[in-house]
Amino acid sequence: MRRLTYLGHSAFFIEKDWDGILIDPFITGNPFANFDYKQKRITYILLTHAHLDHLGDAIAISKHTGAIIVAVVELANYCIEKGAKAMGVNIGANLKFKWGSVRFLQALHTSSNPDLPYGGVAASLLIDIDGTTIYHAGDTALMPDFAMIGELYNPYYALLPIGGYYTMGIEEAAIAAKMLFAMEVIPMHYNTFPNIKVNLREFIDLLDAQGQKCNPLKPNEYVEI
Ligand code: ZN
Repeated sequence: MRRLTYLGHSAFFIEKDWDGILIDPFITGNPFANFDYKQKRITYILLTHAHLDHLGDAIAISKHTGAIIVAVVELANYCIEKGAKAMGVNIGANLKFKWGSVRFLQALHTSSNPDLPYGGVAASLLIDIDGTTIYHAGDTALMPDFAMIGELYNPYYALLPIGGYYTMGIEEAAIAAKMLFAMEVIPMHYNTFPNIKVNLREFIDLLDAQGQKCNPLKPNEYVEI
C-alpha cells in the first residue's frame, strides 16, 4: 500500500507498507487537519523548516510514537533538546530508508520560531518511493533550483505553496510547475489564514493552459502513489 494524504496547509502523510511518514505535521491549530496521530503508525517525520505552521506537532508526535524527525541540523538539535528523536542533516543529503529515499534540497525561505532564533536554512524535499517521486517544496519563493530539480529528478508529484505573502503565489507556482516538469501538481499552503487566501480556480486554469494537471486535494483526501 502506498498512499499520499493531504492534511491541510503543508502537512502530508505518506503510508508505505508498515511505515508512516509525516511531512510538516501542523495539526494543532490547523483549521483543516483532522488527523489523530495516536491512531496511526508513524515512523518518520520530515521537516522543511522551523516555522510553527511546519514544525507543528512534530515534537509531541515523536515523543508519543518514537518516530524519528529528520531535519536540518539546527532544527533537529532543537527537537532533541525538547525530548524528541531526531537526525540532523543538511542541504545536499540523500538519505536512504527502507521505505524510500529523501533528498534535502534548497528552499528560498527562512527558518526560526519564537523559541529558536536560528533553525538553520529552510529545505525542500525530494522523496522517492519505489520510483515514484514526490517533490515537497516547503515554503519557498520561485527559485532557479526548480529547473535543476526538474532536469535531474523529474518529480511526478509537485507539492507547491501557492498562497503568496509568505511564499510564492499562484503565478510563480505555475512557473515552478513548468520548470519542474511535474506530471501532477498538488497545491498547498493556501487559504489557511486570511493573508494566504487565493482563488484556486486561477491556479488550475494557469496549469491547464500550460498542459499540466492540477490535483487540488481537499484535506484528508489522498492519492494512491
Ligand atoms: Zn515558513
